[in-house]
Amino acid sequence: MNANNNEVTALRSESRLVGCSSDEEPGAKSMIFSQNEIPTQLVSNRSSEFMHRYFPLTTIDSWNDWKWQLRNAITSIDELKKIMKLSEKEIMAINNLKGRLPMRITPYFASLIHETSYSHPLRRNVIPVVEELLQHSNEQSDPLHEKSFSPVKGIVHRYPDRILFTVTQVCSNYCRYCTRSHSVGKLDKLGKQDFEKAFAYIAAHKEVRDVLVSGGDPLTLSDELLDYILSNIRSIGHVEIVRIGTRIPVVLPMRITDNLINMLKKHQPLFISLHFSHPSEVTEECINACNKLADGGFPLGSQTVLLKGINDNVPVMKELMHKLLMMRVRPYYLYQCDLIPGSGHFRTTVKKGLEVIKGLRGFTSGYAVPTFVVDAPGGGGKIPLLPNYVVEHNSEKIVLRNYKGVLCEYPEK
Ligand code: SF4
Repeated sequence: MNANNNEVTALRSESRLVGCSSDEEPGAKSMIFSQNEIPTQLVSNRSSEFMHRYFPLTTIDSWNDWKWQLRNAITSIDELKKIMKLSEKEIMAINNLKGRLPMRITPYFASLIHETSYSHPLRRNVIPVVEELLQHSNEQSDPLHEKSFSPVKGIVHRYPDRILFTVTQVCSNYCRYCTRSHSVGKLDKLGKQDFEKAFAYIAAHKEVRDVLVSGGDPLTLSDELLDYILSNIRSIGHVEIVRIGTRIPVVLPMRITDNLINMLKKHQPLFISLHFSHPSEVTEECINACNKLADGGFPLGSQTVLLKGINDNVPVMKELMHKLLMMRVRPYYLYQCDLIPGSGHFRTTVKKGLEVIKGLRGFTSGYAVPTFVVDAPGGGGKIPLLPNYVVEHNSEKIVLRNYKGVLCEYPEK
């Protein structure tokens, strides 16, 4: 009996090394690997094949270790060239990023884009192209003027009752259209004194009932540091809710560990604001990560930036919204792309955003329709926009057009 158990253990550890379970059914879509006999780690066949091809000395355990993913993130053109053929436009852009938003791609996310065309939506998300080097006259660094709303380092206090707390400038992937491209990816860390000043600021402002912990991506920090941040915020009596803004389930899903969930559970009510841009981001690993968060009891919302050629049409947006709801993620905001330098190739017209919303409202569940907003240049805050459903409005009545174009009247008296 002992000998058999040992054999089984040996086989299991072998299978973890080669990334293939011995009792995996042929053609199965994914493999679930055990950790201490608890099947919590999931590796898709896609990831497994990619790992064998480009990280042949790596084990499944390492691949599923978020710190390994961060240590092995692709940050240079030489590393990227080993994995995929690059276009001239991409090469020129990567070679000229000095001082701009850096490039960083987790091996996990690279596995989603390595055999894609140059125009693939996920590829465009993380690999710069030469258009990014062009600055249009209406673009500016920090278009939302966050610096002028920052009373102490890390804090942005724009709205009366809520605060944005940027706890890190690091992300596991850098999105090429990032609103904070002026600050993320820079080596500007908050020290202990900075954190203490930020906590003191929140404590001194009794009107603040909602703190959005963002960055960069806060989930790139260790559990211990996150716990320290959340515990300090939670100890402030007037803070009612805390939100975490993160793209981690999309770009580094293995970061959503049981330890992380257990730590976060201590800080309820805690909302998690995710960031999705395309339905192809919803992989088995991503679903697993979102399910863990939802099972942990955290309300999940998602923000999406409207991006030209990536998600600026109704079928793609609808598919993304439906996939989000299937993962218990409620679509929250659809953002008009901010006017950051080098974003011209990503920006659509506002009219396009209204068309997308018009194509969703009434044609799918209300839960699947995000609020379309323009974050006003200069720091005016988010302004919601709706297609015009009002045909006529006077003191007697309002005449409305429904989603099918049918006119309806409602009395005002
Ligand atoms: S994850 Fe968020 S903060 Fe980081 S680069 Fe993307 S948009 Fe910017």
